[in-house]
Amino acid sequence: MGECVLCRRHGPDLPTERHHLRPERRAESPVVEVCSPCHDQLHALFTNEELRERFDSAAALRGADRMTEYLSWIRGTKKTDISVDTSGHVRDRR
Ligand SMILES: [Zn+2]
Ligand SMILES: [Zn+2]
Repeated sequence: MGECVLCRRHGPDLPTERHHLRPERRAESPVVEVCSPCHDQLHALFTNEELRERFDSAAALRGADRMTEYLSWIRGTKKTDISVDTSGHVRDRR
């Protein structure tokens, strides 16, 4: 059973990953559970420096202007198998 702290989707089929809130300090970084597309998306939208300096909490990531459009889209889909390419465009695999 996974739950994503960003899009708040959850369910037994939702693949989740651990995101290190401070990517350059993995050993001491807090981690949050995010789904695969959110994880891909946040690394496409933010540099490690931005993550460390400004977006080092789930609340900051959820509230980021850059995430708004993406989050409203993903919250509206029931699909769990979604791939996100590194240009930041979200694409449905099926
Ligand atoms: Zn998510
Ligand atoms: Zn990550």
